[in-house]
Amino acid sequence: GIDDSSIPLAEGDALTASAGVSRVTVAVRIRPTDGAKTLMRFGQRHEHALRFLHVDGSKSDEAKNFAYDYVFDQSDSQDDIFQALGPRVLEQVVSGHHASVFAYGQTGSGKTYTMLGTAEERGLIPRLCEALFRQELLKTWTITMSFFEIYNEQVVDLLTLPEAANDESNETSRKGGRREEPKKEEWLGVGLDPKRKVPVLNALRVREHSKYGVYVEGLTKLPVNEPADVEAALTRGASVRAVAETAMNAESSRSHAVVQLSFAEGESGDRFSMLNLIDLAGSENEAKNINKSLLGLGKCITQLAQGGLSVVPYRESVLTWILKDALGGNAHTLMLCAVDPSPENAEQTLTTLRYADQAKKIVTRPVENID
Ligand code: ADP
Repeated sequence: GIDDSSIPLAEGDALTASAGVSRVTVAVRIRPTDGAKTLMRFGQRHEHALRFLHVDGSKSDEAKNFAYDYVFDQSDSQDDIFQALGPRVLEQVVSGHHASVFAYGQTGSGKTYTMLGTAEERGLIPRLCEALFRQELLKTWTITMSFFEIYNEQVVDLLTLPEAANDESNETSRKGGRREEPKKEEWLGVGLDPKRKVPVLNALRVREHSKYGVYVEGLTKLPVNEPADVEAALTRGASVRAVAETAMNAESSRSHAVVQLSFAEGESGDRFSMLNLIDLAGSENEAKNINKSLLGLGKCITQLAQGGLSVVPYRESVLTWILKDALGGNAHTLMLCAVDPSPENAEQTLTTLRYADQAKKIVTRPVENID
């Protein structure tokens, strides 16, 4: 649906995109809607290489123009999105730099669909993995994968294995001469509070090493050699996440799911890159002020973009602390904002679009200021 003429541009909408190189790419994906009514129209201004999105806010009567690097709608397939956004991410990893992809948006807006997709309509993560494992250069590199969630500022490993999870109980069972299966709760990222006998998350500690940087203590790093390894780990992680949620009576919409792929060059280890793929908590949790990490991410991106001597508040939230090395320096960030165009979600949609618009405005800065 590209139609320039129908987009009424206000003063200042042309932005600062001209001679800048941005470390943050902002893309918006408008999900399909059952209802015929939609809030949005979008168009493209080639001279700025930006897409303009025009939104009619139903309640507030607010009509607004936003500008992003990409706008996708229901006419864009999973593959279209990968073709548009994938190459920059791949290039970053292959050249030994960090990259992060965040899916941001209201619950139900299509974050998980865009990142993971379905068996028939595979999302960005499986497509990126497939392309990465096809890279000639990476074939000699060591690739490992971690998968965890951040719930309530706690890190829960989603790839813990039954064998590794509870050494103590294994010891006991060996003495008894037979190997007992560990209890489901003991390895599924969930433990039992010994006093109250209620399920508790087996949260891992985040630590900072003076030389090696930030790491999550005891986090599983699974060697992965082909896309099928990643797919299997994703499936296992998803089921661990579901069990942990039920046990904790938690809501997945409030947690961040993080897939972390590390690439280390074979012998020398000279080149090292990290790819973070993050399905963020529903953006409605930010408005309610209950998700520290979601708020923290916004703050850090803002500070990073402003550059200069300002201190980036990485340690204010678990998500940004873990991603500290992946957000600064030469890293590239892709912010994928998912929105639902139906009028009843106008308010949340506008909030998401404003967040994305702000990220785009702030981070575009002249080439010479980039590390
Ligand atoms: P979120 O992760 O933001 O909570 P989901 O990705 O789970 O939202 O999407 C909610 C539902 O809508 C899912 O059933 C998903 O398959 C469907 N959906 C979302 N976006 C699209 C899309 N672009 N095309 C087709 N189906 C979609």
